[in-house]
Amino acid sequence: MKPFHSATVRSGGNAKTIKGDKAGEFVTAIMYLAPARMAGGANLCSMATLAGCDPSHGGGCLVKAGRASYTPNINLARIAKTQRYLASREAFLAELVRDIGRFARKAAKHGLKPAVRLNGTSDILWETAHPCYRNGQRFASIFEAFPEVQFYDYTKVYKRVSKALPANYSLTLSYSEASRAYADAVKMAATWSKVNVAVVFRTKAIRDSYMAAADGFEGVEVIDGDETDMRFLDPKGATHVVGLYAKGNDAKRDSSGFVID
Ligand code: SF4
Repeated sequence: MKPFHSATVRSGGNAKTIKGDKAGEFVTAIMYLAPARMAGGANLCSMATLAGCDPSHGGGCLVKAGRASYTPNINLARIAKTQRYLASREAFLAELVRDIGRFARKAAKHGLKPAVRLNGTSDILWETAHPCYRNGQRFASIFEAFPEVQFYDYTKVYKRVSKALPANYSLTLSYSEASRAYADAVKMAATWSKVNVAVVFRTKAIRDSYMAAADGFEGVEVIDGDETDMRFLDPKGATHVVGLYAKGNDAKRDSSGFVID
C-alpha cells in the first residue's frame, strides 16, 4: 500500500511504520502532534516533567528525532495541527474521523487491517472527553466510532491502565528513571495491571544484553520492541519489558533518566 497522508494521520512515512507494516497483515497510521506545551497552551503530556522527556526541557522525546531533526517544517506543521486540536476539539475530531475513515477504507481495499496510533508524539487521554460523530451518529470516543480499527499507544500517564480500556485500544506503559517516584509508580501500575512496559535503552547492545539475560530487566523478560511498532501484537497476560534503543541525538545523549544504561 502506498503511503497515506492526510491532515491528521499518516502511514508509511517513516521507517518505524514501514518496518511494522512488514510484520503482518496490519497497516499502521500514526498521528504526530506537538508534545507537552510545544504548541503553547494546554499540556498534552501531563507526566512529561516527572518522566524527564519534555523536549522543551532537554528531554529525549522522539519529536526531534528522524526527519524532524533536520526539517523544521515538520514540527511547525505538528504545532499548527495541535493548535487546531486545542482551538476546537470538536472540529479536530471531525477531521480525524474523516481521515481515519479514508485510511480504513484504503487498508480494506488492499486486504489489510488498519491500526492507528493517535499519540505518536503526545500523551492525550483519547478514551475520555473526546466524543465524536461518524455518519451522523454520536460516539463516546474515536475507538467506539471505529470498531474495525485497532488503536494502540504508549503512555506515561500510568493511571490510564487502572480503568478498563476499549477492546480495540492497546496501551503500553513507558518507563523512565527521571524520578524515583515515577519509576516506582510505573512498576506498581504494571504489576497489578499486567500491562507491558516500554524501556528505552541507550544502545542496541545494552538492549540486547537485557534480552539475553535470564532475569531480564529488573526480573522481567525483555522482548524486542524495535522489530515492529505494533504493540498490540505483543504478549499479554503477564508484564513484559518492551526493549527499545535510543534514536536521535537528543535521546542518545539523554541524561534525564528516560534512557536507561
Ligand atoms: S516522550 Fe511521550 S510523554 Fe514525553 S514529551 Fe514525548 S510524547 Fe510527551
